Amino acid sequence: MKNYLNGLNRELKQLILLAQSIALEQGISAYLVGGFVRDLILKAKNLDLDIVVEGNGIKFAEEFSCRLGAKLIRHKRFATATLILRSGIKLDIASARKEFYPKPAALPQVIPGNLRDDSYRRDFSINAMAIGLSGKDAGRLIDYFHGQEDLRSKKIRILHSLSFIDDPTRILRAIRFEQRYNFKIEPDTLKNLKKAARLKMLEKTEPQRLRDELIPVLKEKTVLKQIKRLRELVGFAFINKRLLLSPKNRVLFKAAESQINWFKKTYPKRRGLDSWLIYFMALLDSLATRDIKSVCRRFAFRKGEAKRILNYKQSNRVIMGELHRSQVKPAKIFSLLEPLSYEAILLIKAKSKDKKINKYIADFFKIYNGMCISVSGDDLRKLGILPGPYYQGIFAKILQAKLNGKISTKEQELAFIKKIYRY
Ligand code: ATP
Repeated sequence: MKNYLNGLNRELKQLILLAQSIALEQGISAYLVGGFVRDLILKAKNLDLDIVVEGNGIKFAEEFSCRLGAKLIRHKRFATATLILRSGIKLDIASARKEFYPKPAALPQVIPGNLRDDSYRRDFSINAMAIGLSGKDAGRLIDYFHGQEDLRSKKIRILHSLSFIDDPTRILRAIRFEQRYNFKIEPDTLKNLKKAARLKMLEKTEPQRLRDELIPVLKEKTVLKQIKRLRELVGFAFINKRLLLSPKNRVLFKAAESQINWFKKTYPKRRGLDSWLIYFMALLDSLATRDIKSVCRRFAFRKGEAKRILNYKQSNRVIMGELHRSQVKPAKIFSLLEPLSYEAILLIKAKSKDKKINKYIADFFKIYNGMCISVSGDDLRKLGILPGPYYQGIFAKILQAKLNGKISTKEQELAFIKKIYRY
């Protein structure tokens, strides 16, 4: 791996050089590992540095955070630590370890180990390569399990036959990497994957661990391909036993993809979308509310996420019904859509085949979203209106008039108040 630093951006290079000098000072062997090495060989962008240290990874990480003045998050159970830098680069540092699975699908027990042990506990050969940072291994690619060959022949290969039984979340990872890179899960690995699926290993895995691997699937660029392959190989019973991917779902998925692209292109500066949540809502669309509630509970989504999923489910039909009527006033469009998340609104837009509804929603994003009035309580007081609960009513009427295009400036708002308020 001569000159492997050449293609990297300046910050990544500096971080790697810093890692090298800390390893030298501490007299330990440190290695770049995992997805970063894989993507370096593939010449794909990756801002997540993964470093393994033969020795005390936490001490190494503490020195790193001290030199950079960056916050360190320690994960005691696995003797690992994470640094998140202002530029968005994430740095994971771990002590090399050996893992044992006390029972299938449980979290592993770990003991200190060397680089080989650490490589062997990894999911696939393409993720099990390392580049030495110090000593005799500096700049050398260490590839115990023929990862380079598999990258060349575009194969996803597990390192031992019990891999999917030990950790069924690797099933989701295998599909994700296969579809992301247009690789193929190699025949033996596929056989083992199917066997684990037949044994319902995903259903036996802690749901929160599944969630942590399902979200990255939904964040992939090729999400529709990913979902099709998931359906083909393992189905969706691990999410909910009644969940199937119907042709209707597939159409919704495609439409959701176009709406996400439309939104990102039209409003690049608005707050970031959780696109994965839109795809997840599309996937769950055919389930009853009761089942969706149970999925949210089991997967322990964060409060805001579960709320958006359920809000969409509970309101999409009513909102489509209301927007389907003829001549919906802007104030009505606003009152229907403003309380919803962008994710829910975009999925409603994706679901609706009614051009009028699509236009109302496009108008909402373009004109009404976030609209507010200019007058304040102070202005009302200055007009001689004594403070009271009816202030809210006055504000609502002004907003309604503004949304419906009857008034626009602050002067017009003040004149409007004088007209509607009887002193
Ligand atoms: P991505 O490009 O999606 O971030 P990644 O390979 O960097 O891919 P991470 O989830 O960040 O993925 O994992 C970092 C590394 O940790 C992997 O490359 C792999 O070596 C190892 N790893 C992650 N999850 C597992 C797992 N379930 N079993 C074994 N090894 C794993």
